[in-house]
Amino acid sequence: MGSVKARIADIQRASIHDGPGIRTTVFFKGCPLRCAWCHNPECISFEKETLYYPEKCIGCGKCSEGCFSGARVVCGRDMTAEEILETVLLDRDYYAEEGGVTFSGGEPLAQREALGELIRLAKREGIGTAIETSLILFDEEILGEADLVMADLKIWDEERHRAYTGVSNREILSHFKLLDRLGTPVIARTPVIPGVNDDRENVEKTRDFLRSLRNVIRYELLPYHPLGEDKRRALGLPPAGFPVPDRGKMEELRRYADLRG
Ligand code: SF4
Ligand code: SF4
Repeated sequence: MGSVKARIADIQRASIHDGPGIRTTVFFKGCPLRCAWCHNPECISFEKETLYYPEKCIGCGKCSEGCFSGARVVCGRDMTAEEILETVLLDRDYYAEEGGVTFSGGEPLAQREALGELIRLAKREGIGTAIETSLILFDEEILGEADLVMADLKIWDEERHRAYTGVSNREILSHFKLLDRLGTPVIARTPVIPGVNDDRENVEKTRDFLRSLRNVIRYELLPYHPLGEDKRRALGLPPAGFPVPDRGKMEELRRYADLRG
């Protein structure tokens, strides 16, 4: 049990965007989805990958010894659950009541054994746990033990969902219902991608579904941010090329997303 390993893309300390309070975010490598706008494209493949940023290369010619200028970055590190927890514990004094560790990715549930072990270890230390997931996968024990689940419902229409993420959303919807029975608090989220899912109907249908669940504490709309474009270039991928939604549009859509109505 003690030696279960996870393949990790990154661990970010002092994060304030991946759940309540101050958090350490563990990004798992590998995801079964292929979202056209993915902001963490280095987390999609389960394999280790090299990102190359030519603008940082100083031409030292010492690539085989490891790159110290940050031009060539290997993404993917196999770490034991204990090693990961050690990093998480470094900031335990800052977590207070709200904060803790967030397991993100990629899709953390795709590395079920390691995720389960990490949740158990974190809980034993009294650290709050959150999981960010696409809910394409489901594990009752893990999702039932987490303190918070942040789950995406990206596109309501099944065919559009398949076209832009590579998978149907039917399984995801049924996992939302299963998750609801576990009683774990859920923050549901939709990344708003102009021209893909920024229409009123998409938001209202998603909101109506979420209203039928008991444990959804919030429905958040997250504006698309082209954060992933640099990393796409570094991976040799073509640009995703989506525009950023304007503030007025986001305000309008947030009115339709109100769960209390
Ligand atoms: S080690 Fe880094 S900086 Fe040096 S040549 Fe290789 S990529 Fe460029
Ligand atoms: S589910 Fe998340 S990590 Fe996976 S492809 Fe979509 S945006 Fe990227």
